[in-house]
Amino acid sequence: MSDLVEVIDTNNKGIDVLSIRKEFPVLHQEVNGKPLAYFDNAATTHKPARVIAALKAYYEQDNSNIHRGAHTLASRATEHYELTRTRIKEFINAPSAEEVIFTKGTTEGINLVANTFGKKFIREGDEIIISTMEHHSNIVPWQMLCENNNAILKVIPIFNNGELDFEAYKKLLSPKTKLVAVVHASNALGTVNPIKEMIDLAHEQGAKFLVDGAQSTAHLSVDVQELDCDFLAFSAHKLYGPTGVGVLYGKRELLEAMPPYQGGGEMISEVRFEKTTYNTIPYKFEAGTPNIADVIAFEQALSFINDCGKENIQNHESYLLGYATKKCATIKGFEPVGTANDKVSVMSFNVRNTHPFDVGMMLDASGIAVRTGHHCTQPLMDWYGIEGTVRASFAVYNTTEEIDRLYESLVRIAKRNN
Ligand code: PLP
Repeated sequence: MSDLVEVIDTNNKGIDVLSIRKEFPVLHQEVNGKPLAYFDNAATTHKPARVIAALKAYYEQDNSNIHRGAHTLASRATEHYELTRTRIKEFINAPSAEEVIFTKGTTEGINLVANTFGKKFIREGDEIIISTMEHHSNIVPWQMLCENNNAILKVIPIFNNGELDFEAYKKLLSPKTKLVAVVHASNALGTVNPIKEMIDLAHEQGAKFLVDGAQSTAHLSVDVQELDCDFLAFSAHKLYGPTGVGVLYGKRELLEAMPPYQGGGEMISEVRFEKTTYNTIPYKFEAGTPNIADVIAFEQALSFINDCGKENIQNHESYLLGYATKKCATIKGFEPVGTANDKVSVMSFNVRNTHPFDVGMMLDASGIAVRTGHHCTQPLMDWYGIEGTVRASFAVYNTTEEIDRLYESLVRIAKRNN
């Protein structure tokens, strides 16, 4: 496998992009006869070799069901699985590993809260607040809950630049608010919301706060104790880890008060036909055999992030975002969508007179991978009155040379219709 992209990183002294790229086998390939430039990182990031190696090692050496076995392989698998939990506790600075629940991903984490906390604590007439820029996975579970429990869903408006209307949020909050569920960093716009201030205000009204950290955990330092959030949901696959694994952090007293999500093995303490008692947290929420291999491999993704340094990743990505935004703004017909002051490395845009899907196809012909469409944020697209956008989202392994290629292709595409 050869590195097809000549990368000279002159931008960020804290990070050696060339050696980072060497860790990602998938980057070293041609797509449609051109070196791959992968800008679909908000959908999912690629996996470093150490994550792939951990998956292989598990199946080759340790494959076993966890927690229940008395044999060596089972204890090794259990030890590795629980090590990931400890590493996640450190990664988000949770007070304890018991407050870290493994899920399939952000979507499952949010559904878990809606179906347990929501089922028990949200009553008729209670209000749940979300925002205009939520991903469908932070809209639909709350709609379903409101429908079941006769609760009311309120939506925080936004400004044209993609920032939340903070004053409107303050007005929506009241003693009727039982839960606020808001995205920390928008996948469609890149906007970073003032989540700490929002949490403090929600708490003043006695409401709980769920942070959708699907994007923010990949780009920012997220400290659940500093934020004082009640829940945080995120996915491993956006953090250089495997698909099918996610995390729900919840405050101990809430998790303990919530009913279980699913019934089955592992989540019980004792089962009798007359009555079942439940396991302690986190196991109460982890019914059945989990995704052992991928959880174990996730630990290696966290080790990759720690080796890079969260701050270095942030600096590099923010340099790339600035570079791309400034450069592409000079293209006639380039229309950015989402220009908030505080953004993660997401550049959403349209090319005037050209359908986003066509832009995506033309970029793909040049080996450039972007996402097009509504990005699972249809209400947000409706708010802007557009069908969708083209989204280039940058990760630690992206380079300015790749962005130059994106720019040159966009110049050619924009020229056709402008
Ligand atoms: N929330 C946000 C902001 C996202 O970007 C995504 C995925 O794109 C999700 C939730 C859902 O994540 P998953 O599909 O991994 O459950």
